[in-house]
Amino acid sequence: MGDCIFCKIANGQIPSNTVYEDDMFRVILDISPANKGHMLVLPKEHADNLFEISEDTFGKGFILAKKMAEALKKAVECEGVNILQNNGLEAGQTVNHLHIHVIPRIKGDKVVIKSESVSVSEDEFKTICDNIKNNL
Ligand code: 5GP
Ligand code: ZN
Repeated sequence: MGDCIFCKIANGQIPSNTVYEDDMFRVILDISPANKGHMLVLPKEHADNLFEISEDTFGKGFILAKKMAEALKKAVECEGVNILQNNGLEAGQTVNHLHIHVIPRIKGDKVVIKSESVSVSEDEFKTICDNIKNNL
């Protein structure tokens, strides 16, 4: 665990606005929310990111994120919900303890998730396709 802040929050050593807890997870309100109701699903067991976490915990985390999104949709005014999860600095991960964002979306809000697209040739599409298939 070391100095991991999310380990300490998930395991109750640091107080948080907890909306759900079981033996594997704690779900908290994000301290700096993108919208009101923005939650984080935290596994209690430490893993830096998706490359370290077990399939079982990752899968259960997303099932829990769905449950939280369903409650969120009834609890706050929102037309949509984003479930997202960042892995690595380049992907926008700022806390190295895997977490799943559950973000309520409201028409006209200030959340930005879209990116510009890069151009890819037909050959490149095929090579990328093959490379991914060969690494499954
Ligand atoms: P990331 O960018 O790593 O995917 O997201 C980290 C999230 O954790 C951010 O949205 C940030 O606001 C939230 N966060 C960071 N520190 C704390 C904290 O101490 N408590 C809570 N509740 N949220 C935190
Ligand atoms: Zn941790």
